[in-house]
Amino acid sequence: MKPMLAHPTRAVSEVMKRFGDNDFACEWKYDGERCQIHKKSDGVVKLYSRNQEDHTPKYPDVISKLPECFKDTVNSFIADAEVVAWDPVAKRILPFQVLTTRARKADSTPAKKRGADGKEIVKAEVHVCVFLFDLLYLNDESLVKRSFRERRELLHQHFHESPGSFTFATSLDTSDTDKIQEFLEEAVKGNCEGLMVKSLDENATYEIAKRSHSWLKLKKDYLEGVGDTFDLVVVGGYKGTGKRVGVYGGYLMACYEPDSETYQVICKIGTGFSDEDLKNHHETLSKHIISKPPPYYAYASEEKPDVWFEPEIVWEVKCADLSISPKAKAAIGIVDPDKGISLRFPRFVRIRDDKTSTDATTADQVAEMYNNQDQVKNAVTNENKDEEDMEY
Ligand code: AMP
Repeated sequence: MKPMLAHPTRAVSEVMKRFGDNDFACEWKYDGERCQIHKKSDGVVKLYSRNQEDHTPKYPDVISKLPECFKDTVNSFIADAEVVAWDPVAKRILPFQVLTTRARKADSTPAKKRGADGKEIVKAEVHVCVFLFDLLYLNDESLVKRSFRERRELLHQHFHESPGSFTFATSLDTSDTDKIQEFLEEAVKGNCEGLMVKSLDENATYEIAKRSHSWLKLKKDYLEGVGDTFDLVVVGGYKGTGKRVGVYGGYLMACYEPDSETYQVICKIGTGFSDEDLKNHHETLSKHIISKPPPYYAYASEEKPDVWFEPEIVWEVKCADLSISPKAKAAIGIVDPDKGISLRFPRFVRIRDDKTSTDATTADQVAEMYNNQDQVKNAVTNENKDEEDMEY
């Protein structure tokens, strides 16, 4: 059956608003591939992808270990799960792109080897762990009209974990926003994408093929408060269009490199501004326009703004993540020889009129913040992420 999908949210506060007084569960949102496991009473097992493709040949290791995860009480079932690349030595989740290196079909792997007993040796080069999070059918009975609380209870009652192969999704039932935020941070540290938040009782049936409001996803990028703040110099402006005609629609921001006394472009910013902010910034910055960029501005030609400003104004900026970018010049040569670091999802926080431009965040500090990210520490790169047929 077509899987149930989740609705995106931007912040814990939005989750609270949507669920009101209803009880809900928070689960880690694993970064792998959706997997619907079907086991019939005659023993036949099939695995289906998010798009109902038959993925049974792709995961012979999952099939062979499946009996480890269900109890004697189970005859037939359909379970919903996420297959994730797993490091069996470090006992931890591996990034999504490791999973993409796994052969798609058994027949695309090298010739099958047979052991001394004549049995096929199933050698999967990338280990996977299956994180079970729902039960849709059990012993010839459909559960989709039952509440998620009941389905989850049945899952836990009739299945068990087999470390490194089958695990229940890490879950926390709470409506305490601080705890949700902490749980989200733990999920991100555990190499997960964020959280799935699911209604337990009210409107908590399994909605086949629907992007439902009773499942909300809270990805790390959306979280208010995750991400460092930076004090950046406004070096350029882009003419506004649409609702922003007459003011600047976006700005080019830079950090400071004290050794070379240069301003290195780190991002473009267009969010976080109220209408009044936009008006005030336009008024202030118009007084600082210069005809051409000074030689101590490092920027990529494709990001050339409509107007340049002298380095006078400093803003505090928040972001979700830092990433290596060929366009950015910030901290160039520190983390990568030719590429700089840019901010993902930058947002304006406030004007720092207590700071001059040479007090701005330095290139070294940017590099340090980049290196301190959990994904970088865990050697995750999102470059070349193969999104085809995969979750992201
Ligand atoms: P999206 O496709 O962005 O709507 O996100 C939903 C996807 O997250 C699902 O299709 C699953 O593949 C994946 N996922 C990871 N962890 C969970 C979880 N605990 N519950 C439900 N879906 C999950």
